[in-house]
Amino acid sequence: MEKGFTNVMEEIVTTLVKIAMLSPDYQTFCQCKKCRNDIISLSLNGLPNHYVTTKEGRDMVFESLNTYDNRKWINKRIISAIHLVGKYPKHVK
Ligand SMILES: [Zn+2]
Repeated sequence: MEKGFTNVMEEIVTTLVKIAMLSPDYQTFCQCKKCRNDIISLSLNGLPNHYVTTKEGRDMVFESLNTYDNRKWINKRIISAIHLVGKYPKHVK
């Protein structure tokens, strides 16, 4: 935590986007860094922030956020972001 604070939701979304984009369902979507960053940012804009300033706080929030139901709900956001970015990519070809 070099900044002194971190958004646990950002950590979770970054991981879930990586996993989603590796899945066979999304192999036809662009895998470039720009598209991935757009998907992460778009997903995070629709999700609540969970900032923490300590490792203990991070672990506590991570545990409470990283449940099956939450992942399902967060993945819904991610999937709609993947489709939106796929439809209107901002990368330069
Ligand atoms: Zn791309």
